[in-house]
Amino acid sequence: MTSLSKRALERIPGGVNSPVRSFAAVGGEPFFVMGGEGAYLVDEHGKRYTDYVQSWGASILGHAHPAIVEAVQRAASLGTSYGATTEREVELAEAICERLPSVEKVRLVSSGTEAAMTAVRLARGATARTKIVKFAGCYHGHADSLLVAAGSGVATLGLPGSAGVTEGTVADTLVAPFNDVAAVDELFARHGHDIAAVLVEPVAANMGLVPPAPGFLEHLRECCTRHGALLVFDEVITGFRVGPSGAQARLGVTPDLTMVGKVVGGGLPLAGVGGPGRLMDELAPVGPVYQAGTLSGNPLATAAGLAALEQLDADAYARLERTATRLEQGLQAAFAASGIEAQVPRAFTLVGVFFSANEVRDYDDAAKADHDRYARFFHGLLERGVYFAPSGYEALFPSLAHSDEDIDATIEAATEAARAL
Ligand code: PMP
Repeated sequence: MTSLSKRALERIPGGVNSPVRSFAAVGGEPFFVMGGEGAYLVDEHGKRYTDYVQSWGASILGHAHPAIVEAVQRAASLGTSYGATTEREVELAEAICERLPSVEKVRLVSSGTEAAMTAVRLARGATARTKIVKFAGCYHGHADSLLVAAGSGVATLGLPGSAGVTEGTVADTLVAPFNDVAAVDELFARHGHDIAAVLVEPVAANMGLVPPAPGFLEHLRECCTRHGALLVFDEVITGFRVGPSGAQARLGVTPDLTMVGKVVGGGLPLAGVGGPGRLMDELAPVGPVYQAGTLSGNPLATAAGLAALEQLDADAYARLERTATRLEQGLQAAFAASGIEAQVPRAFTLVGVFFSANEVRDYDDAAKADHDRYARFFHGLLERGVYFAPSGYEALFPSLAHSDEDIDATIEAATEAARAL
């Protein structure tokens, strides 16, 4: 154990400030990041990694992109937080609304967790109903009511939920398997009058990558409309990553509320929830649904977010999708060359890896994949200077900084790592 690891473990629970950063599922010790540039991270020993975590999807331009660095520096020189509204908050809200046609107004917050809390409270306030529906393996942050059958770190650590969450808090959370329309029908048949909202990642990316089956999201839209519930798309990962107008545009299904995060903050703490003006005006100070934040709409975060969105034109998304496709096809070839049964799903610019003989459609399928093999593959890559997520329940985030050469080097490493499995 390095002395830095020891110090971290002494003063930070598990040595990490978010459990997904630990290597609990893959074994070994996480490295410490000393810096990043483009597609790469450098650890405390000076070793360089091609990074496919990219701040769990926040850094779509790669690390330390000059436009972001400059925007943040310029903003910082004028003050880091005021507790009063700035022009850039308005500009970022306008930029979000312009890109997401279903969003007329947006409330900015500092994390995806807060966006989810706000969306749930707003949906309950607006509908005067209590229950929410979520899908097993989808992750919407760590708010109590949503830590049921959650993906990401909760799935990685094999937890049924979380200690400290009371039965009462989750009594109104209904769970269905992702991609299971019959289960959704059953929930609506039993609880239709009480369901305030259905929350879903339109492309599930917290149980590994699981694209929606044809018709699934359309079915959710129909059920919500018929029963007077709100459809909430959690686009914290997909928004501004799969295309300029999110998964909703690429999949052709319009939600009532949209959560955004990660990319929209340009790598700084920023997220938001948006929707039609009449709904959003249920929030205080106009309406009765309270929500607030000292650092909400932070000047550095809005500067970084605007700088990021400015870079993300149609050409950038086309380029990123070509990169993701190159990664998908290369990984498929690497596994095929070693006769290893694997699934490499891709949804637009997102890629996943499951060591499974069959297509993965929901959390149960994802859990049946060979996660021990993933751990060995992960370490095989890490040794070769490639950093994939330290869990088979996460997606891969190629960035705009990943060149064809970077992808090809990754495929070479993956081919060797697969051969050694
Ligand atoms: N929703 C989704 C889809 C996410 O992937 C995440 C974080 N990985 C969140 C919400 C929570 O965001 P945060 O970590 O910023 O609270």
